[in-house]
Amino acid sequence: MPARSASPALRLPSIDSLLRHPACVPLTERYGRDALLASLRQLLDDLREPVLSSQLDAVEITPEVLAGRAGERLDLQHRSQVRRVFNLTGTVLHTNLGRALLPDEAIEAVQRAARYPLNLEFDLQSGKRGDRDDLIEGLIRELTGAEAVTVVNNNAAAVLLTLNSLGVRKEGIISRGELIEIGGAFRIPDIMARAGVKLHEVGTTNRTHARDYEAAIGPRSGLLMRVHASNYAIEGFTARVPTAELAELAHKHGLPLLEDLGSGSLLDLTRWGLPAEPTVRQALIDGADIVTFSGDKLLGGPQAGLIVGRKDLIAKIKKNPLKRALRVDKMTLAALEAVLSLYRNPDQLAERLPSLRLLTRPQADILAQAERLQPSLAQALGDGWSVSAVAALGMIGSGSQPVARLPSAALCLRPLVSKRLRGRHLLGLEAAFRQLAIPVLGRIDDDALWLDLRQLDDEAAWRAQLDQLQVPG
Ligand SMILES: *Cc1c(COP(=O)(O)O)cnc(C)c1O
Repeated sequence: MPARSASPALRLPSIDSLLRHPACVPLTERYGRDALLASLRQLLDDLREPVLSSQLDAVEITPEVLAGRAGERLDLQHRSQVRRVFNLTGTVLHTNLGRALLPDEAIEAVQRAARYPLNLEFDLQSGKRGDRDDLIEGLIRELTGAEAVTVVNNNAAAVLLTLNSLGVRKEGIISRGELIEIGGAFRIPDIMARAGVKLHEVGTTNRTHARDYEAAIGPRSGLLMRVHASNYAIEGFTARVPTAELAELAHKHGLPLLEDLGSGSLLDLTRWGLPAEPTVRQALIDGADIVTFSGDKLLGGPQAGLIVGRKDLIAKIKKNPLKRALRVDKMTLAALEAVLSLYRNPDQLAERLPSLRLLTRPQADILAQAERLQPSLAQALGDGWSVSAVAALGMIGSGSQPVARLPSAALCLRPLVSKRLRGRHLLGLEAAFRQLAIPVLGRIDDDALWLDLRQLDDEAAWRAQLDQLQVPG
């Protein structure tokens, strides 16, 4: 190793000379002179002490090298805050990670909608003003059997808007077993209160009968509501009134029945070996007057809330001034139409809709991938870790089928250290995966870090950054 130059003459270049240097020209163009100036100042400040104490060589402080380092700092500072990640948590429709991934058709539709003017609220037939719901109404009616349709920003908005439109200043009758909280402070009683509907809860947590609803119906009643329990399951000694019976009861008293399906599937998922979810069509056949569901859960589309059902009620909902506050934008509509179009051909759906493709990926396929990746990961982690390709259990996520597990496979990473140090090593490795250029998110369970590979499509990009991993220990 060459001796460090101890020359007292070693000096950092001046800011002015750096700014004028050709190596800095592209940085000025990209980030602007002020940002570059600030970055160079900071860099020179940081280097003053190491230079004084002769920890640096002349070659480490050339204008080219300094420009390169300032550039790296600027790249990092200006990096987008909206980051792509690898979702290896095992939860497919992960609310915190953006839920459903869109198919190419939808991405292209979003691009078109973003790039060009479009007939968002313009009827090309008549040349008059149109309604943005018209763009997808036909498709949704065809796919659900509904009479009419309107779309808002998400399902929480759909529930709020529907309750407010149909039940304001009246009572909403709902089973105590369905007064749920969904993540992010969405609680049915709170939403009802904000919608101006007075909650009238009936039955008990585990058992609610038709007579409970019947006894609650009176002159102040505005609607009956049913909510999909989504993220929890009631098992054992339970009773629930079938939708058809509840609808009959509601209609006998001239009240509408709302059903919040949450995920709400358009097709019977059991044909792909997935757990059964109630379909929107069936809820309508059973007699629900309005059904609400999300666009980015099992449907596999963009964030949206779909409200479908009786024509007169939908008309009332659309007249509510809140509709304007909760409406969807053009890119959402474009994506939604493209995704819904894929449902016209169910035989191809599992190949063309990413969420369904990922949900139905065979376990053997995922396990083979884990085995294929095991050696390179074992090498990247070194001696301190055991890396094994193992079967694992994942989840659909977003409140669909909270108890059902998807047979999957994972890379299971265990620290080979004393029990006392295990937790720290695991957290350190988890953090290291998060620091990668494309952060990798797994889950810690049973003294191991699990990387569930069901959703690892881009194997090359994943492998390419393994050598950047800062393994703790
Ligand atoms: C997820 C869910 C919601 C909220 O839907 P978002 O689209 O996330 O706003 C409402 N109700 C039920 C039953 C749900 O599962």
